[in-house]
Amino acid sequence: MKLLENKVVLITGASRGIGKAIAQNLAAHGAHIAFTFLSRIEKGKALEEELSAAGTTVKGYQSDASDFNAADELVTNVVADFGKIDVLINNAGITRDTLIMRMTEEHWDDVMRINLKSAFNLVKAATKPMMRARAGSIINITSVVGIMGNAGQANYAASKAGMIGFTKSVAKELGSRNIRCNAIAPGFIETEMTGELNEDKLKEWMSGIPLKRAGSGEDIANACAYLGSDMAAYVTGQVLVVDGGMLM
Ligand code: NAP
Repeated sequence: MKLLENKVVLITGASRGIGKAIAQNLAAHGAHIAFTFLSRIEKGKALEEELSAAGTTVKGYQSDASDFNAADELVTNVVADFGKIDVLINNAGITRDTLIMRMTEEHWDDVMRINLKSAFNLVKAATKPMMRARAGSIINITSVVGIMGNAGQANYAASKAGMIGFTKSVAKELGSRNIRCNAIAPGFIETEMTGELNEDKLKEWMSGIPLKRAGSGEDIANACAYLGSDMAAYVTGQVLVVDGGMLM
């Protein structure tokens, strides 16, 4: 039997980057995949076709994770289409990097709304079917930056630190219902998000990684497969750092 055989996994922001790698990896472990995208409709459709062609039960939904009502509607639709949600992965996120002196209210609000409020929206909605089932695994994709801070990312670091407090609180509240909640803190992962960094910043990050390489979406997806599965049945409220040793 495969690790995630017949588990229904909902992943936000899987049209590209880490979310896409999670969808591909968990599908290979036997999961049924519900995923969202926001602006990249073609990429969302392409992922749906790719996974479906490989025999996965899959559906992509265009849905804004930061919209409270849309998140609630999404969960209702996923339960109607798939029957349940076993694993929720809050992956959708953005950066609006700039120094605090130049950071606008909009930079701050956008990042908090999309990175932090989205996780609240989805957890609030998805825990209803999970509580009925008395089972569930929630995985919040935070960042090492939420633990160590980073110049030029005060908004992003605050949102990711917020996710960690949120994760631990949810783990404490819902543990008695057999709902686990953990966070994964990726380090430097090669995606469009990190593609925006300039050469100097890239060199600075790479020089501090003991494993001497950037991470891949697959590295994060492997951690999701573990935390989403029954192999992690006694693991909750944790932050699993996946960063090639950068943070230690
Ligand atoms: P990415 O390549 O920029 O992809 C972001 C994804 O989020 C896209 O699928 C995008 O959908 C989706 N998205 C954005 N806003 C959304 C919204 N409001 N509702 C639903 N979906 C939305 O980013 P990534 O590098 O894969 O990062 C994924 C997660 O890992 C983020 O939470 C990020 O903070 C975290 N992380 C990344 C790194 C890294 O080094 N890359 C490190 C630490 C943590 P569309 O394409 O449809 O717009």
